[in-house]
Amino acid sequence: MSNEPETDAGSVVEIRKVLGKANLRTTAARIAVLRRLQRASSPVTHAEVAEDLVPTGFDKATVFRNLTDLVDAGLVTRSELGDHVWRFELNDLKNPERDQHPHFVCVSCGQVTCLHGNELPKFDKESWAKIGKVSEILLKGHCLKCS
Ligand SMILES: [Zn+2]
Ligand SMILES: [Zn+2]
Repeated sequence: MSNEPETDAGSVVEIRKVLGKANLRTTAARIAVLRRLQRASSPVTHAEVAEDLVPTGFDKATVFRNLTDLVDAGLVTRSELGDHVWRFELNDLKNPERDQHPHFVCVSCGQVTCLHGNELPKFDKESWAKIGKVSEILLKGHCLKCS
């Protein structure tokens, strides 16, 4: 994606503020996990985050624990997109209201794409109350590469 320098103090200050507001301590692992999620343009798996962070000195369990802490604190959304793998996505911290969006999953290569700017289908509360609670809107198909 972008080639911005990784050491911009601005975003560490920003991350520290965000963690403080969520009552989470700022640790090196949390900063690393958040920055990895910030760079992602679509939801990433624990394995993908670990792949990037393990070589920098964090173990897989630490990465997973931090992902879970961030989910619990409401900073990160965890979704299961039909393949029994949890994927993690940083919430838009400035606009959490607008953050819920559908995802498109390619059934051939598994590529996940965020569908921002698409109207969510309207859910009539009464009829859904008889069915359950919607947690994820998922569209499946073939991506441009696979179709
Ligand atoms: Zn594909
Ligand atoms: Zn998304």
